Amino acid sequence: MLEQLQELRARAARALDEAVTAEQLEQWRQEYLGRRGALTVALRGLGQLPADQRPAAGRIANEVKTSLEQAYEARAEAVRQAALVEELARGALDVRLPGRPQSVGYLHLSTQTLREIQAIFSQMGFQVLRSGEVEDDATNFQLLNMPPDHPARDMWSTFYLNVPGLLLRTHTSPGQVHAMRRYHPESIRVILPGKCYRYEQVTQRHEFQFFQVEGLALGHGITMADLKGTLVNFARQMFGAERRLRFRPSYFPFTEPSAEADMDCIICGSKGCPLCKYTGWLEILGCGMVHPNVLRGGGYDPDEYSGFAFGMGPERIAMLKHGISDIRTFFANDLRFLQQFA
Ligand SMILES: [Zn+2]
Repeated sequence: MLEQLQELRARAARALDEAVTAEQLEQWRQEYLGRRGALTVALRGLGQLPADQRPAAGRIANEVKTSLEQAYEARAEAVRQAALVEELARGALDVRLPGRPQSVGYLHLSTQTLREIQAIFSQMGFQVLRSGEVEDDATNFQLLNMPPDHPARDMWSTFYLNVPGLLLRTHTSPGQVHAMRRYHPESIRVILPGKCYRYEQVTQRHEFQFFQVEGLALGHGITMADLKGTLVNFARQMFGAERRLRFRPSYFPFTEPSAEADMDCIICGSKGCPLCKYTGWLEILGCGMVHPNVLRGGGYDPDEYSGFAFGMGPERIAMLKHGISDIRTFFANDLRFLQQFA
């Protein structure tokens, strides 16, 4: 009986080694451990042994049963693992992505235009000066000849900060005050580029934030002829050597006299077209001689000094130069628009 059990154990172990699929494994289980399996049958035969042999035979039989059960579990686990590995290998995906091309950045059209403007004026001896976007009421308005009740303020609604008296500048003209205080009593030739804010309804021609470039030349004996010469030179470098300018009387609180500078239409050459609204002229900037009150506010004596100032919008300049009809495209972050100027 004992030999029979040992022989059964050896036979079962060999058969188990040959079981490589789940089906073969199940078949093995039924064959040896099942209700009609070889081991079960052998265990039933224990009852027919003589009484003195039964305990030893029972112990061996239990050992064989336990060892076969353990071997079965181990084999079943190995078969499951092998099946899993095979399954993964069969359904494997190559998840590696092709490399991403390096994209080289480029400057926004506003910045490009700003730099072009800066380059032209720096050739004429203007240096670039920057001042903050947050100003107080005095610098943004009062020192530019707009006392608190001045009607011209109606054109400049803006965003006020929580701190009383502070606001986002409505124009770059406060930079004139900063320049005068910084350089007094020297002569000044600066351009002041930067971002401005107005509480505007956003339309094709108006944005609530936009760039401006202010210019200021101040010294002894500066006249309107200097102003005209400087701006004509600018227009010709920016838009072509054949450009002509005309100066139309206008009003700004901080200049006297004041003018709007119009350039002959770059599309029709003054014959009339939709761009110039059939006038033949395009407005490009505002300018004038610095108002005596502004000079005084900056510490310069108007009897001794004179100067001119101008202000233009780089977006407006870029719109004219590239035939762009809607200012909102500058900040709409649509790459189809921006990439045209890469
Ligand atoms: Zn035209």
